[in-house]
Formats: sequence, C-alpha cells, structure tokens
Amino acid sequence: MTAAGGILTVDLGAVAANYALIRREAAGAEVAAVVKADAYGLGMRPVAQRLAAEGCRTFFVADAREGASLRDELPEAVIYVLNGLFPGTAALYAKACLRPVLASMAELEEWRAEGAPLPAALHFDTGMNRLGMSEAEADALAQDPSLSAGVGVSLILSHLACSDEAGHPRNEVQLGRFQAILARLRPHFPEAQASLANSGGIFLGPGYHFDMVRPGVSLYGGNPFTGKPHPFRQAVTAQARVLAVREVAPGDSVGYGATWKAAGKARIAVLAAGYADGFFRSLSSGTSEGISGGRTGEKAGESGGRVYIGGGMAPVAGRVSMDMAMADVSHLPEGAVKRGDMAELIGPHISVDEVGLRAGTLGYEILTALGARYMRRYIEDGTQSAAANGGKA
Ligand SMILES: *Cc1c(COP(=O)(O)O)cnc(C)c1O
Repeated sequence: MTAAGGILTVDLGAVAANYALIRREAAGAEVAAVVKADAYGLGMRPVAQRLAAEGCRTFFVADAREGASLRDELPEAVIYVLNGLFPGTAALYAKACLRPVLASMAELEEWRAEGAPLPAALHFDTGMNRLGMSEAEADALAQDPSLSAGVGVSLILSHLACSDEAGHPRNEVQLGRFQAILARLRPHFPEAQASLANSGGIFLGPGYHFDMVRPGVSLYGGNPFTGKPHPFRQAVTAQARVLAVREVAPGDSVGYGATWKAAGKARIAVLAAGYADGFFRSLSSGTSEGISGGRTGEKAGESGGRVYIGGGMAPVAGRVSMDMAMADVSHLPEGAVKRGDMAELIGPHISVDEVGLRAGTLGYEILTALGARYMRRYIEDGTQSAAANGGKA
C-alpha cells in the first residue's frame, strides 16, 4: 500500500518498443529522440537512459537547463538545444557540450565568437514561421563562407507545421523548400546531417527522412496523427485514489458552482486528482442527464471526462477542482467502488489522446501537464524496475 493519492506508471519497455517501431519505419536514417519538457512529462532521465540503452545517441531538448541535466545523465550523448542560443549564454552551452540549434544570424555570430569550432545545428524556416533562418539567409551563408567560419555545422534542420495530416499540401511545400536549402548548403557543409521529420513527418514517407528523424510524442505513446489510429504502445498509466463514496439525493448538486445535478438517486466517487495534477478543469461535466447507462465503448470527443473504475466507465460529475474530481458511479453495482480503490485516469481503457479530446486539447498537452504530485514508478513491460525516478512506494 502506498500513501500516494495518485500513481503514475511509466512503461519504459513501451518507450523502447515505440523507438524500435520508428527505427523500422525510418530504416536508413538515424532515429534521435526528443526528450524536451521532461520527456513530455514522463521523466527525462529514466526515459533518456532507456533510449540510450536501445542505441539512441542523439537527443533534443528545449533549453540549455534541460540539456545540462541530460548531460549529467548521458556524458557521451549528442544533445541539441531546440530553442537556440540565448544571449550571453554560449559559454554555458559549450561547458556542457550542448549543440545549439541556431535560428538566426545573431545566434550564429554569438556561437562563432565562442572560439574553437564548436558543433551546432542550423535551423531554417520552411513555412512554420516559428523559429529558423530564411531561404535568403541560406543563400547568404552559401555565398559567404566567412559568415559561418568557426562553426562546426553538424546538422541542418527544419520543422513541419502540418505533419499530423498526411494529405495537407503544406507538407510538400515545406519538403521542396528544405530540399532547395540543402542543395545550396550541402556543398559547404559536407559533414552536416539533414533532418526534417518529427513523429508525424516520419510517416509521410522515406522522402521526408533525410539523415535523421526527430520523434517525440510517438515514443511516449501519443498519437502524432489527427483523426487516424496509430501503431504506438501507450507508455503512461495515471491512477487516482478513491477518497470517499457518497450517496446524493435526487436534485442535489455536486461540486463547485453546483453545476452538476443528480437526475435521480446517485452515487458519487470522490477522486484524489484535480487540475493541479493535470486532470484538466475542462474535463468537468455539468449534467447527469442520460448518464445512467453503461458508458463503456462510447465514442471519444464528447464533452466531459471519464474514468475507469470498479470495472466500468464513469463520467466526471461536476467541476474538477484543484485536488479532487468526482465521478458518477451510480450505474455500477453497489460496492463495486470502495474507498481506497484506484481509478484509471489514463491507461489501457482511456488513452491519453481520448483524454486530450475530451479536455478540448491534444494528447501532447495532457502528457506534459502530468503533475508533480503523482508517485512515479518506472516499469519494464509490467515489472517494476529498480531505476525509479525518486518514486517510493
Ligand atoms: C517537439 C519537436 C519535435 C518532436 O515532435 P513530435 O510531434 O512530438 O514528434 C521535433 N522537432 C522539433 C523542432 C520540435 O520542436
């Protein structure tokens, strides 16, 4: 028994299996791993260790602080910092052997000034209009080698805006622009790898793979496609304890704002998970009308969250509060749900993407919002591993 209100179980075996699947899909290209934002909420250190054991050599983080913490964990890894070089911090990157993904001439200039030729990536914008240098700047770099003298360009990358939709015309437009940039720069940087594809991009076909692919969400079992099933294994289970089960009289309300009213006599399970745990407030549900039947097998996409508890699905009742949420378990057999039981918030019955849909967002945000309060445990295909990330039972 644990005293934790919530338990987050990360299946590192599933992460490894997803990595292997991508390796097969992108055969011939290096498969790097994007472990920014604490490996999308799963825990950067154990996840990166596991991927390194699978043969992953190159990792992407968002900023230099994440990079430094990964460097402590993996002394040999190649680590790229996606958000580029912050003013006045080049020495910190160099000290931790981090490679900035340079997104402007100003960043390039600062990295050059750091002295000895240090490796870095060049980031080009091909249509996302987020970070990256322009095609004109690629031309300038091709024409004037002195602009990049003293930088060991090890990677040339761009990022796709619509890789979640295979048929989106922007994908081909971005691919064409990236090829044009490479045609200009490759003769000047013969050592540099090229990389365009995130998780979704990998499935657009071999033409998008280049030398390196950069999956993130797919490694963690999230769906990189919009409105299409995916082949990845879910890596996260989140469970919350049942704090109490209470009877509610017909017409009575539940929770803040009294938004949920019992149509008949109702039984409510009070769960130890709220928006502070990443159980979004948008999973609240305002009515008990028509929810007396079994909810299993229902289609995702409707409003209001649900949890798997006592052998069945139960809809969220009322507003999700900071530390608690309530579920309507009236339709489950009496005694099926007891104080101390665990309810599944994310897991085999409720995918992270279903939770995302129901919360009005996507699986990426559900994963990265997983709260710090969960007791975390790391398992390997169902067997608890010793390499837990500070989580103690
Ligand atoms: C986050 C990110 C990725 C990974 O994207 P996924 O959709 O999670 O696979 C790859 N490249 C860049 C530049 C990113 O910012």
